[in-house]
Amino acid sequence: MIPFSYTRATDVDQTTLQLASAPRAKCIGGGTNLLDLMKMGVETPEQLIDVNPLPLAKIEEIDGAGGLRIGALARNSDVAEHPLVIKRYPLLREALLSGASPQLRNMATVGGNLLQRTRCPYFCDPAFPACNKRKPGSGCGALEGFNRMHAILGQSDHCIATHPSDMCVALAALDAVIHVSGPQGKREIPMREFHRLPANTPEIETTLHPSELIVAVDLPRLGFSENSAYIKVRDRASYAFAVVSVAAGLEMTSEGSIKTARIALGGVAHKPWRAFDAEPLLIGKRPNAEVFAQAAEMALAGARGYKQNKFKIELARRSIVRALAVAAHAG
Ligand code: SF4
Repeated sequence: MIPFSYTRATDVDQTTLQLASAPRAKCIGGGTNLLDLMKMGVETPEQLIDVNPLPLAKIEEIDGAGGLRIGALARNSDVAEHPLVIKRYPLLREALLSGASPQLRNMATVGGNLLQRTRCPYFCDPAFPACNKRKPGSGCGALEGFNRMHAILGQSDHCIATHPSDMCVALAALDAVIHVSGPQGKREIPMREFHRLPANTPEIETTLHPSELIVAVDLPRLGFSENSAYIKVRDRASYAFAVVSVAAGLEMTSEGSIKTARIALGGVAHKPWRAFDAEPLLIGKRPNAEVFAQAAEMALAGARGYKQNKFKIELARRSIVRALAVAAHAG
């Protein structure tokens, strides 16, 4: 590990000014991903700003709107166990509890989870020369190498890495809004715009500016609290990243047809992948296997696999059908 300085944040504005004046500074909250990457030599910050003293861990109702505001420093386990999350956003709870281990969830923050880096093995090993994300212009070792866990949607020839978060898949389905603060002021970023596809700059993973700090995540009021499901397919029953995951939500009419639908996928793209094209196919329909299969087909219409991960396309289709079926009968 290279030497670095350590400071404790005192307030949000001061922290963003520090980030602006020190481009190689990094904020640390739970440190569950950053410290690993520092030990491996992938991240080499000159300065660590410990943001834990900042008052950003509250989980509270948004005044009069029926939604929920989750502070960026709220721990994953605190979010999963919050009574309003259990009651109104069981999809988020399921996704959170399917990730990592209890010890890691006790440390990991919502802000840090949003900024997780890929677990592509070529990215995580600085001894490997070809990784455009770690070293722009060096190539992509996964294209012709080990790519079983890699992307099938939205990828580019510069990078086929996947985003590792479960929480973010649920946030994509929930249409979350990310609140950030920077030297230029505050702004809100819709979840769908927060993470980027790789294109030819896979090293830029989000639309967060380097001097901005995530302060909170808003969840809007929902029409499908009960009719939701998070399905995670992985290589072992716990403490494993998704091969494929699906967050599904169905708002039902009193007559039993689908009023609105949300489908988001994990483990398949550089960002949590919202299946926007597939959702309208479900609207107005009665929930059944045929309709769910049509939506799944549409969701995977542009999918492209590689030598080791072509199986993910069919796996994702089946996972969507299963998640929608569970959501439809959960109410
Ligand atoms: Fe690097 Fe992306 Fe290729 Fe993995 S998939 S080696 S992260 S460029």
